[in-house]
Amino acid sequence: ERTVSDNELTAWDRDHFFHPSTHMAQHARGETPNRIIKGAEGVYITDRNGKRSLDAFAGLYCVNVGYGRTKITDAIAAQAAELPYYHAYVGHGSEPSIRLAKMVIDRAPQGMSRVFFGLGGSDANETNIKLVWYVNNVLKRPEKKKIISRWRGYHGSGLMSGSLTGLSAFHNLFDLPFSQVVHTEAPYYYRRPDRSQSEEQFAQHCADKLEELIQVEGPDTIAAFIGEPVLGTGGIVPPPKTYWDKIQAVLAKYDILLIVDEVITGFGRLGTMFGSDHYGIKPDLITIAKGLTSAYAPLSGVIVSEKVWRILEQGSDEFGAIGHGWTYSSHPLCAAAGVANLELVDEMGLVENARTVGAYFRQGLTDALGAHAHVGEVRGEGLLAAVEFVKDRHDRVFFDASEKVGPRVVAALLENGVIARAMPQGDIMGFAPPLCLTRQEADVVVAAAAKAVKSVL
Ligand code: PLP
Repeated sequence: ERTVSDNELTAWDRDHFFHPSTHMAQHARGETPNRIIKGAEGVYITDRNGKRSLDAFAGLYCVNVGYGRTKITDAIAAQAAELPYYHAYVGHGSEPSIRLAKMVIDRAPQGMSRVFFGLGGSDANETNIKLVWYVNNVLKRPEKKKIISRWRGYHGSGLMSGSLTGLSAFHNLFDLPFSQVVHTEAPYYYRRPDRSQSEEQFAQHCADKLEELIQVEGPDTIAAFIGEPVLGTGGIVPPPKTYWDKIQAVLAKYDILLIVDEVITGFGRLGTMFGSDHYGIKPDLITIAKGLTSAYAPLSGVIVSEKVWRILEQGSDEFGAIGHGWTYSSHPLCAAAGVANLELVDEMGLVENARTVGAYFRQGLTDALGAHAHVGEVRGEGLLAAVEFVKDRHDRVFFDASEKVGPRVVAALLENGVIARAMPQGDIMGFAPPLCLTRQEADVVVAAAAKAVKSVL
């Protein structure tokens, strides 16, 4: 077996590997980080040069159980030996996919009854919208098809999921969003235009804006609303108090379905099994991915409420089998990873840990950075946290994007051995560590973050 030198690997990477979400020209010129990760254990990753970093972003908010869990890798290997693949079309299945569906429903909010499995969050959201359209066709209301999403929402980068995403970087030059998608106000209290508003007044303002949009578009044209319980990639922003109650009241008034995108929040990240549990949300459809397998294998899902399921059944009786599915829907290897992963979440008490260590971690960040002259806000929920930097905290003046404050702080933090994420919009340092984070590890992250901020600002 030939070993590949670092230089060769780097050259092949530059010449042949098409990286997602990357500045192509800068990468080709060697200006972007070209870190090749080799191994990982617990909350630490190690690159080919042997440099270890504490991964306080769990990959991309997904390695919830931490790295190196042999319970999951053994389950994948055993499944590969027994049955690497069989499809799930026309009523077929494999044991792990059926067991996983049962486990998901056992943990899901009340009223949910079926799971459709896909591969990633983006394709699950494509499925969601197809189901919404199908439902309204079965119900003979073909005009009720538009989807409302929020500015700053992130729902993936497919054709429809990218349209739902309310971040312009994912639209530019791709001819998105589709005309059936309309966006409404982000529930971003810190950046509210009218600073005199209380949280509750701002929540009411968001609900009023939603209702205004529904009126302008025509209530008979709006099929569904999609939102993350806590805005993720748009800045890690928990909603203002009573936001979800007020939004759900508007949706109920106009008979609009609610899709809750729990790709980040599902399976414990906020300290509850689902974000919907945390905020009292009653979804019609839920998107799941990341924490379903802790990314040991790619798997997503759409959890369907009994209410929607009944209409899908009615549709099959009237129009025949539903024409939707992927070759790899409920792939047995991924499902086996999911079963072992959800067992591990229970065995390790990770939902509770996200709640308690999450509160400890966020308090640590607040104590260390909350009073800093350039920190506007420290916020989060469970093990999801953000520090937002501002030029002037009193007058809430933001830095110019060209100053790249967020990326510079995150780069300094990496020098201190900790990985956080410079959130794509604004000067925000985001944290989403594995849910197994200990208090000692939280202390390490906080100390490194405080040092990084002081070195840059
Ligand atoms: N929805 C949310 C809330 C996400 O955070 C993401 C990914 O970060 C997606 C959907 C898309 O998932 P994927 O990247 O697996 O397609």
